[in-house]
Amino acid sequence: KKIIIAIDGHSSTGKSTVAKQLAKALGYIYVDTGAMYRAVSLYAMRNGYIDESHFDEEALEKSLPGIDLQFEINPKTGLAEVLLNDENIEQEIRTLRVSKHVSKIAAVSKVRKKLVEQQQKMGVEKGVVMDGRDIGTVVFPNAELKLFMTATAKDRAERRYIELKEKGENVTYEDVLKNVVNRDHIDSTRKDSPLKKAKDAIKIDNSNLTLDEQFKQILKLAKA
Ligand code: C5P
Repeated sequence: KKIIIAIDGHSSTGKSTVAKQLAKALGYIYVDTGAMYRAVSLYAMRNGYIDESHFDEEALEKSLPGIDLQFEINPKTGLAEVLLNDENIEQEIRTLRVSKHVSKIAAVSKVRKKLVEQQQKMGVEKGVVMDGRDIGTVVFPNAELKLFMTATAKDRAERRYIELKEKGENVTYEDVLKNVVNRDHIDSTRKDSPLKKAKDAIKIDNSNLTLDEQFKQILKLAKA
């Protein structure tokens, strides 16, 4: 029987890595909800609604009906990538520039409402692994398996720093650490759907786990 697997947790805990592994092993669809919030952020940045010194929330809210998000499978990787009004923006949304604004965008209730509705539609057939911050609490409170991933901020920032460097981004470790901590803070203190562990979620601290150990543990849970 196909189920819904909800993976939530702090920033850069490797949620998407596990989610992709699981989806592949189970033949499920993987949905990266963070990519959707990142896409809305990019839209807001391009339209000048948000920058370092200001955020015009109302302008963003008004423009929401004009934001269309779809997923498209990249034939090379077999993974879904996000389309913002038909434009593939996969590369651009992963930058630290977008990470710096995304949590403010994600705190806007109307943005959340729009994206949560779309995410719920993607789960109607089950057989879905979805990762984010509110999947087990808000999007699929009845998900059959809920995981909550965490690790020390230092471990997470190190991993993310290496990842961004490999992609050729000009960032410092301090910048990345600051961003990870800052996003967690905004995500867990916002009024609408704050990041928290669902009561029935299984907590996984992967600070001291290899990817392989972690995956074996989780696959067992998914098959139980
Ligand atoms: O998962 P990722 O780090 O790409 O998510 C980027 C940001 O999007 C998070 O820091 C959070 O602010 C927001 N987000 C959210 N709810 C989700 C997924 C992401 O608020 N379900």
